[in-house]
Amino acid sequence: MKKIKKFPVLDGNNSWYDTTPYKSQLKSDTLNGNLGFDYVIIGGGFTGISAARRLAELKPKAKIAVFDALKIGQGASGRNSGFMLDIPSTVRSNNFDIKQSKKIVALNRFGIKKLKQLVNQFDINADWQESGQYLGANDADNYAKIDQTAQLLKAMDEPYEILNKKQLTKKLGTDYYSRALHTPGDVLVNPASLIIGLAKSLPNNVKVFENCPLRSMQLNGDKVLKFDGGKILAQTVLFATNAFNEVLHVAKSRLAPMFTYASMTRVLTGKELKSFKDVAAYGLTPAHDAGTTMRLTTDNRILIRNGLRASLTSSNSAQEKAREQHRLSLINRFPHLINVPFEFSWGGNICITLNGQSQFQENKPGVFSVAGMNGTGIVKGTFLGYFMAEKMCGIKSKERDLIEETSQPTWVPPEPLRGLGASARLYFEQRNAGSEV
Ligand SMILES: Cc1cc2nc3c(=O)[nH]c(=O)nc-3n(C[C@H](O)[C@H](O)[C@H](O)COP(=O)(O)OP(=O)(O)OC[C@H]3O[C@@H](n4cnc5c(N)ncnc54)[C@H](O)[C@@H]3O)c2cc1C
Repeated sequence: MKKIKKFPVLDGNNSWYDTTPYKSQLKSDTLNGNLGFDYVIIGGGFTGISAARRLAELKPKAKIAVFDALKIGQGASGRNSGFMLDIPSTVRSNNFDIKQSKKIVALNRFGIKKLKQLVNQFDINADWQESGQYLGANDADNYAKIDQTAQLLKAMDEPYEILNKKQLTKKLGTDYYSRALHTPGDVLVNPASLIIGLAKSLPNNVKVFENCPLRSMQLNGDKVLKFDGGKILAQTVLFATNAFNEVLHVAKSRLAPMFTYASMTRVLTGKELKSFKDVAAYGLTPAHDAGTTMRLTTDNRILIRNGLRASLTSSNSAQEKAREQHRLSLINRFPHLINVPFEFSWGGNICITLNGQSQFQENKPGVFSVAGMNGTGIVKGTFLGYFMAEKMCGIKSKERDLIEETSQPTWVPPEPLRGLGASARLYFEQRNAGSEV
């Protein structure tokens, strides 16, 4: 049996999870003894839950189980910034291959559409906002990225708007940004509500086991998976743990696990909201990759996300450092909020690949893995999980062909070289981001 040595841990307090009305609504199963399943999915994030739903649709008589080391919503899927992007930065860096970019955007829209259907069908209150998003810059040095994106969108015949400082001040409630590009297709959500709502509404032939980490496994011949409460004999296994796929021995030298951090203020008071007169809830991602993601939420809080660490785990000092940077980022943008405390600060995993492509493969007969969401896993995990389920059932489609073609993550060096190289690169990138942080 191969032993698993690293497990996800909770870092800080995550506002989305702590405030979601769905927090204790998922009635999960308890493993007590040995069981057998046709399909076992390790990881109950957007990828794993999407795969479970599609498998259940395709194989209504099959016995399907999802296992997560944490409670659903406590992992990265419930602790991210809640941007569902139809035109992510991987499309922007696609060397202006218009035809290919259009196909990738169509896949993202497929993911968003699926999620919207489910939200409506099961009445999931995930604070779904079709507000689009801003790609913003403070420093003229970063205008080029905005302008290049605009050029690409124009060539793709996609709608967008470029806004100047005066227009942005009215839209964002801060005069910090001097240029931004607004695209209308992105959606903002409360990610913890969304993922728990999705897990809650899975078909009856899917069992969800929470707080149930995979401890060891044997994947040759009969597939045996060992958890604290018992052993599982599985016909087919899917590993959908994103950053953890490598420590589960299913993604050697392809993934670069990272940690990133976010903080959320308390609800702003009427007086504090004066500078936000007529400003609707919004989301902004940075034109510089190492800059700050920001949201004004519908319940009038400010979210700040920045800071990257080349590691699968975090530490108290890294969390503290991130929180200090979040405070500076908040005050730089909203000096009048200097006395507004962060009610929540947390960190979580993301999983980068060097060429931005995901892992989507059958490792050996009956063993599949998906990982490497490159920080856009709400939408990407949803469509990759869906088409992975189709792959597991042998269903072919042009979407699956495109995914297979664009899911070839390049080699990354093993530790400690990978960590050293990534840390050096991050140090450089974060310094280079300057006032975008
Ligand atoms: C602060 C932050 C902000 C982000 N912002 C955004 C954003 O705005 N938009 C966006 O699309 N993405 C964002 N991301 C990235 C996004 O959260 C991920 O891409 C997404 O969660 C990936 O989904 P997933 O289902 O593939 O993996 P995960 O959500 O990581 O789910 C994998 C699950 O596997 C479980 N697991 C791991 N090991 C084991 C084990 N041994 N046994 C059982 N279970 C195990 C984990 O507990 C976890 O729940 C952000 C991430 C962070 C941390």
